Amino acid sequence: MRIIGVIYMRVVVIGSGIVGSSAAYECAKAGADVIVLEAGRIAGGTSAVSFAWTNATTKRPRPYFDLNVSGMRAHLELRRDFGAAPWFTQTGSFDWRTVPETMDDYFENFRQMREWGYGVDWIDKKRVAEMEPDIDVCAFGDCPISYYPEEGWVDPVLYSAWLLRAAKERWGAQVKIGLRVTEIETDGGRVRAVRTADGERYATDAVVNCTGGWSSERLGDAQGIPLSSTIGVLAITPPIALTLRSQLHADDLDLRPDGAGRIMIHKVSVDMTFKKPETLSPIGDEAATLLEAASRVLPSLRSAGVEAIRTTVRPFPEDGYTCAGAMPDIAGHYMAVTHSGVTIAPQLGKVVADEVVRGKIHEEMETFRPQRFFQAHTQRAAAHV
Ligand SMILES: Cc1cc2nc3c(=O)[nH]c(=O)nc-3n(C[C@H](O)[C@H](O)[C@H](O)COP(=O)(O)OP(=O)(O)OC[C@H]3O[C@@H](n4cnc5c(N)ncnc54)[C@H](O)[C@@H]3O)c2cc1C
Repeated sequence: MRIIGVIYMRVVVIGSGIVGSSAAYECAKAGADVIVLEAGRIAGGTSAVSFAWTNATTKRPRPYFDLNVSGMRAHLELRRDFGAAPWFTQTGSFDWRTVPETMDDYFENFRQMREWGYGVDWIDKKRVAEMEPDIDVCAFGDCPISYYPEEGWVDPVLYSAWLLRAAKERWGAQVKIGLRVTEIETDGGRVRAVRTADGERYATDAVVNCTGGWSSERLGDAQGIPLSSTIGVLAITPPIALTLRSQLHADDLDLRPDGAGRIMIHKVSVDMTFKKPETLSPIGDEAATLLEAASRVLPSLRSAGVEAIRTTVRPFPEDGYTCAGAMPDIAGHYMAVTHSGVTIAPQLGKVVADEVVRGKIHEEMETFRPQRFFQAHTQRAAAHV
C-alpha cells in the first residue's frame, strides 16, 4: 500500500494495450496504487496488430484533431521523460493520390491542416528520390506530394512493456497477466472491487476500463459502451535490403519500415472485405493483393513475398470518436476506449490520471464523454414511454 500525502487511492486498470499501459503509467505516477489486470499477454490485443502511425491529418472535427495533436506532443514528452524511446520513430510521412476523384479532398485536407497549424508542406519528386531512393517515383504520377515531417510511428508492444516496467519499478504498480476480469462489483452505486475468472477479488476505489474492442461487454454490475468496430489487416515482408525511413501513404495504401528491414503493408480496401478477424495465409489472396500494391511503390518488394499477415479488431466507439470519462451508471468506473489509440494513448493516460486520481477535469474532453451514448438511449427509451 502506498500513501502519498493525505491521498490514498487504489486503481485497477483493465487491459494492458497501449491505452491501458498509458493509463497505468500516468495513474501510478500521480500517486495511485495501481494494479493492471490483463486477460492475455501485454499489448497482445489490437495494439499488437496496428499500423501505429502517429498523426492528426484528416482527423476532424477540430476537438478530435486537437486530441490527436496532443497525443503526438505527449509522445515527444514521454521520449524526454525516458531519455530515449526505443518504441518511437519520427521520420515523417509522404502522402499523394492517384485517383482523380479524391484530389479535391486531398487538396482540401492540405489546406485545412495548414490553417490549423499542422506540419505539412509540398515536396518535389527529385527531393523525395534523394531522401528515399528505394521508391519508384513513377508511382507518384502527376500528383503533388505532401510531406509531414512531424509524423512517426510506434511499436505499441514495446511501448507498453516500457511504460509498465517504469510503472512497476518507479511507483510499485502491479501487472498481472492471464487474468480476465469477469465482474466489476459495486455497493451503493460505487465501484468496490473487481473479480477475475480465477475467483480472486481485488478491492479498489476506481476501475479504468481499457479493454478496447472488448469494451462493449458487461462486467457484472458495470455496463459497456456501444461499439462499431471494424477489422484491420496487416502484411509484413521478410527483411529486405532497403534504406526506407519514411512512411508512405498513397490512396488507400500505407507502407512503413517495421524493423530489421521488414516492411509493413496496409490497405483499407482489404480491411473492408472482412467482418471478423480471421487467420490468413502469407501466400493467400489478401497477401498477394497487399504485396502487389506495395511493389508498385517499392519495386524490390516484388520478389520478397509476405512473411506474416495478421487481422484484428479496430476498436471504434459507436460514433467513431474517442470515449473517455466517468461512466454514468456507477461511480468510480472510467472508460478509456478509442480508435487512433496509438496516437492518442499518451495524452489519454494523462487525462485519466488527472480526472481519476487528481480530481482535475479536462474541459476539452467534454465532447468525448461516454454519457453521449447513454443520453441518446435514455431519450429513445423516454420517447417510447
Ligand atoms: C490495422 C490497424 C491499423 C491501425 N492503425 C493505426 C494508426 O496508424 N494510428 C493509430 O493511432 N491507431 C491505429 N490503429 C488503432 C490502434 O491500434 C488502437 O486504437 C489501439 O491499439 C487500441 O489500444 P487499446 O489498448 O485500447 O486496445 P488493445 O490493444 O486491444 O488492448 C485491450 C486489452 O484488454 C484486454 N482485455 C479485454 N477484456 C479484458 C478483460 N475482461 N479482463 C482483462 N483484460 C481484458 C485484452 O486482452 C487486450 O490486451 C490501428 C488499428 C488497426 C487494427
